[in-house]
Amino acid sequence: MPKELLLQVSPEIAANTALLQEHLSKQIKVGVDDIQHIAIVKRSIDARQKAIKVNLKVVIYLQGETFQESSIALPDYPNVTNKQEVIVIGAGPAGLFAALQLIELGLKPIVVERGKDVRGRRRDLKAINRDHIVNEDSNYCFGEGGAGTYSDGKLYTRSKKRGDVTRILELLVAFGATPDILVEAHPHIGTNKLPQIIQDIREKIIECGGQVMFETRVTDILIKNNEVQGVVTQNGDTISANKMILATGHSARDIFEMLDRKKVLIEAKPFALGVRAEHPQSLIDSIQYSCDYRGEHLPPAPYSIVKQVGGRGMYSFCMCPGGVIAPCATSPGEVVTNGWSPSKRDQATANSGIVIELKLEDFKPFEKFGALAGMEFQKSIEQKAWHLAGQTQRVPAQRMIDFTQNKVSASIPPTSYVPGTTSVEMGQVFPGFLSQILREGFTEFGKSMKGYLTNDAILHAPESRTSSPVRIPRDGISLEHLQIKGLYPCGEGAGYAGGIISAAIDGEKCALKIAESLNL
Ligand code: FAD
Repeated sequence: MPKELLLQVSPEIAANTALLQEHLSKQIKVGVDDIQHIAIVKRSIDARQKAIKVNLKVVIYLQGETFQESSIALPDYPNVTNKQEVIVIGAGPAGLFAALQLIELGLKPIVVERGKDVRGRRRDLKAINRDHIVNEDSNYCFGEGGAGTYSDGKLYTRSKKRGDVTRILELLVAFGATPDILVEAHPHIGTNKLPQIIQDIREKIIECGGQVMFETRVTDILIKNNEVQGVVTQNGDTISANKMILATGHSARDIFEMLDRKKVLIEAKPFALGVRAEHPQSLIDSIQYSCDYRGEHLPPAPYSIVKQVGGRGMYSFCMCPGGVIAPCATSPGEVVTNGWSPSKRDQATANSGIVIELKLEDFKPFEKFGALAGMEFQKSIEQKAWHLAGQTQRVPAQRMIDFTQNKVSASIPPTSYVPGTTSVEMGQVFPGFLSQILREGFTEFGKSMKGYLTNDAILHAPESRTSSPVRIPRDGISLEHLQIKGLYPCGEGAGYAGGIISAAIDGEKCALKIAESLNL
């Protein structure tokens, strides 16, 4: 019987098969050559002590024991060309995984996406970075693969249902992601690898008879007797179907406005907001790994920090080791930050959103907007930041200690944020209570992570698209909208997911509920 073992080894041993084999042979008292294969099934880094260890779960196959290289195959997707059609609005993780699941269940997805395909999108990302031009349909949030395509591709989630998470990870591997994501405690894919995976998913949908329409923005949802009939696109075309998954993400403000106008029930939802902090990666490594140099066997260190400040949670969000800060605005006249990293996370800086939990009562003076109050509050901060930084895609920036001392920074060094920065006192960007919490919070962070509070860290503002400012409420069992039959609010935009994996899981869930409603 192959032997399963939990062990702690040095990063050097964990990274070298021959050394690991030698280590294990001593541990289980067999000759090195008696070991046929070592399968690593879980890997995590334990940086709590000075001597950093790697936790491994391994299965050891001795000579003579049956070992088969496992490969993960795609499900047997049927051809759905002539099957019942379901409209999927949005080709983010929620929409794409909903489409795959619909096919598996024998339904035909018609995916309608306002943005361009992954390759076409690249030109628009260049334009926002270099020329400060924001294409309202094609940017870091909109386009094939959704907000997750040009991201860090972190694939961890707080979802407790391991089975659901594993299924999505396995599908990603079957579509070309590295099998390492099944092993790592904190898997990620990276911006350079995600586009091909997304493209392969799209090609599979089309090969099976599904449809994927790019540069097709949904402008209206047709509803009759409280039941969906189809959608209207920006060209005035109508696509008919009485089942529809609405997975347009947290930045589709026009969708929220359209629903509000049509008196389809939506609700204001609290979200979190703050800044994106950038440190030298070497500094984060030295804090997290308690060393001067992390060496060649440890990955660029991530961090995760949360504090209660002034009665609110202030926490790191979407931390990108070895990453780059991206301009994530979806309309002209606003600036928004977020972060991405390549699969190797080999950039010189580490960035993270540092955000504060908001409450519904914070959305003053926007109460008049009702369900859109949070969205208007968010928009007002993004627009103010745009004004303060010079009305381009430059963002307000300040050194961290200067911020805590209310001092405009005399200079801002170049950061990874390509459009550039303008030295601004951050207190001008946010309402007073938020600035105060951020100031206190950074001081607190500095006490837990020695070296974190430094003027070598540059704050960029705002980090405002952390989750949806609106919920599109649905029934907890059928997942249909509370009032509109056939409408399935889905993913992050509807307020039911946060992050790539949970959005993908929610997409699958909505597809399953549609099949259930059709007795499939
Ligand atoms: P989205 O991905 O937002 O997709 C919605 C889609 O709907 C978009 O493609 C949009 O173009 C389309 N759409 C919108 N309106 C319309 C319309 N009217 N008609 C047709 N189509 C429309 N999450 C992680 O888990 N890990 C990370 O490392 C990570 N990094 C990120 C980095 C960046 C730069 C950004 C912006 C986000 C990152 N996220 C990350 C968040 C993650 O991308 C989202 O949580 C996830 O993509 C949400 O999936 P979704 O399908 O619900 O919505």
